Amino acid sequence: MSDRRQRVPPAPVSDRVRAVDEALTEKQLVPEGFLDDTAARAEQELSPRNGAQVVARAWADPAYRARLLADGAAACAELGFHAGDEKYIVVLENTLTLHNVIVCTQCSCTAWSVLGLPPDWYKSPAYRARVVREPRALLREMGLDLPESVAIRVWDTSGETRYMVLPLRPAGTEGWGEEQLAALVTREAMIGVARVRIQKSRGEFPSVTQGGKDE
Ligand code: FE
Repeated sequence: MSDRRQRVPPAPVSDRVRAVDEALTEKQLVPEGFLDDTAARAEQELSPRNGAQVVARAWADPAYRARLLADGAAACAELGFHAGDEKYIVVLENTLTLHNVIVCTQCSCTAWSVLGLPPDWYKSPAYRARVVREPRALLREMGLDLPESVAIRVWDTSGETRYMVLPLRPAGTEGWGEEQLAALVTREAMIGVARVRIQKSRGEFPSVTQGGKDE
C-alpha cells in the first residue's frame, strides 16, 4: 500500500519553537524574553534532584512519609518544591509486592517540580503505548526485571494530577544521611522504570522500542 500524499519533512524542532515564539511575541501574547526566561527557570528549578530529596526525607522520616502519601503536593511544598500546573501530586509507594509505574498516555506530563521535565523516552509513543499494554515486558527491556510475585500498577497522568513513585529504599543504606540517600535516587526510579541501587550503573538510559505485538 502506497501513500500518495506528499510528505514534507517537518522543520527542526528548534526552528519550529523559534517560529512559535516569534509569532506569540509579535502578537504580544507573551512578554519579551518569555521563552529564554522559562527555559532558564526550568533548568534551574525543575529537577529530579528535588524529587530525590523528597524520597530521601520520606525514607528517613516516617512522619514525613505519611504526610507525603496523604498529600504529595503539600509535603513537596514543605521542602520548597511548589507545584505549578500540576494541582495534585499523588505519591505511589512501592512495596515488596507492588510496583508502580507512571505514564502520560496523552502526551508527556510529569510532576515538573519534583521530577523535572520529562525525558525523551517518556514522551515516545512506544513507551506510552507499551507500558499500558505490556508493562512487565517493557520494564524488562528497560532493565527492570520484576518477578511474577510483584504486581505492576500503571498510573496514567492527567493535566491536573501528576504522580511520583516512592521507590523501595535499597538494603544496606541503614544509617545513611538524607544527602547520601538522595544521591542514589534517579528520575527513572521515581517514574517507576528502575530500582534505586546503591551503585548507579550505566550512564545512558536505554531507548524504548516499538515492540512487535501491534506492528
Ligand atoms: Fe501529558
